[in-house]
Amino acid sequence: MDSLKKLQIWFVTGSQHLYGEDTLKKVDEHSKEIAKHVDAVTTMPVSVVYKPVVKSSDEIYEVCQQANITQNCIGIIAWMHTFSPAKMWIRGISVLNKPLLHFHTQYNVEIPWSSIDMDFMNLNQSAHGDREFAFMLTRMRLNRKIVTGHWKDDKVVQQVGNWARAAAGWNDWQGAKFARFGDNMRNVAVTEGDKVEAELKFGFSVNTFGIGDLSKAINEVSDKQVDILCEEYADTYILADNLGKGKPGHASLREAARIESGLTSFLADGNFKGFTDTFEDLHGMTQLPGIAAQRLMNRGYGFAGEGDWKTAALVRAMKVMATGLPGGNSFMEDYTYHFDPKNEMVLGAHMLEICESIADGKARCEIHPLGIGGKADPVRLVFNTAPGNAINVSVVDMGNRFRFLVNDVTVVKPEHDIPRLPVARVLWKPLPDMKTGCTAWLLAGGAHHTCFSQNLTVEHLEDFTEMAGVEMIHIGQSTNISALKNELRWNGIYFGNRQNF
Ligand code: MN
Repeated sequence: MDSLKKLQIWFVTGSQHLYGEDTLKKVDEHSKEIAKHVDAVTTMPVSVVYKPVVKSSDEIYEVCQQANITQNCIGIIAWMHTFSPAKMWIRGISVLNKPLLHFHTQYNVEIPWSSIDMDFMNLNQSAHGDREFAFMLTRMRLNRKIVTGHWKDDKVVQQVGNWARAAAGWNDWQGAKFARFGDNMRNVAVTEGDKVEAELKFGFSVNTFGIGDLSKAINEVSDKQVDILCEEYADTYILADNLGKGKPGHASLREAARIESGLTSFLADGNFKGFTDTFEDLHGMTQLPGIAAQRLMNRGYGFAGEGDWKTAALVRAMKVMATGLPGGNSFMEDYTYHFDPKNEMVLGAHMLEICESIADGKARCEIHPLGIGGKADPVRLVFNTAPGNAINVSVVDMGNRFRFLVNDVTVVKPEHDIPRLPVARVLWKPLPDMKTGCTAWLLAGGAHHTCFSQNLTVEHLEDFTEMAGVEMIHIGQSTNISALKNELRWNGIYFGNRQNF
């Protein structure tokens, strides 16, 4: 993925003319210093750009309009160092269409007890200036992120960075194109959804292409391209014996490489950010894209199987959000359970298509039968995933709204080999515990398809869903089934009645 540093967050400080030039000059200096610091911290993935202090309704309107039309501006951080009467903000905030973070900080750490006087008070008023501003945002029913604390506190600035990651994912979705080869897997419900509503809400479009369009691109791949890719496979992975040159499976490896190369050029030519396919519709193709989907995901493309465009788009957004962080993000499916009462856990995998970004060590490249779909045996990467904290995220279409689900999970080290199930796999324990976590997921209607993430947290997803103005259900350490039932009922009323978000 490209670095996010080319994206900008504007640091906008609000004030007014009341205080006179000297105070405003100080406000300006302090704002510059804070913006520079926030820009430079290692947890800030994007560029933070200082903007001159705004002191009037016209200036506020102008900076909001400029943010809207500046392509690489993905959001605004607002801070009220002094008092900035908030009726001045109505016009600007009303038109702002980029995410907003309200940074509730102040310039000084401590109260200067021996020297504090009225000049100090005129300058350092965010404790009440930010309240005036926040009232207006609340009165306007505006979703925004609030980060409270001193700007030099790493934990505080990290929250700003997390929000910036969510804003980068959100920005990436605006105008994004996803290709859907074939339709939904027949009769499956949860992978369906309203693509018109998705484009209205999320900004990305999903359009269908005949599998013939893809097989044409695959057929145009040269033997030379296939040679190069096969060499790359051999260099990068532990290649199964039967796939090497002169071995019986080598033709299948070449075919897998041809599929990857064809898919790559199809996606690049059409400027797509992800795709979905289905094993029920592979006319003109010899095998289901396995290693191709795995490697394309690793390069940042969104993917999900069986026509699941919602999860494909989600995988893409989460990959953008996680740019530069250690660990990976992958399409995932709850595969099967281990119900040993002393050691309950979920085996997560898919038929083939798990992203190698979550592989623990070097992946093996193997070929095995699939058992469904009636096509040739597909080549795939096989690996385990390292233990640690992770999340599973699902997006479902509730008919009148989209719902995101986030479940905190603990990935555990596999204690057993599973030699007869040659797929990439993850073992995890859902929080708060297996029974509550799974029950909660089912009550909330979560899909079997998810995006599994080793490097994002519920905070990223909460910020992201607030930017989108959609529902998010978090299943974690404090989840309680009775309370969750009420949350789902109340959310039904809240989101069902919302008109303007
Ligand atoms: Mn599936």
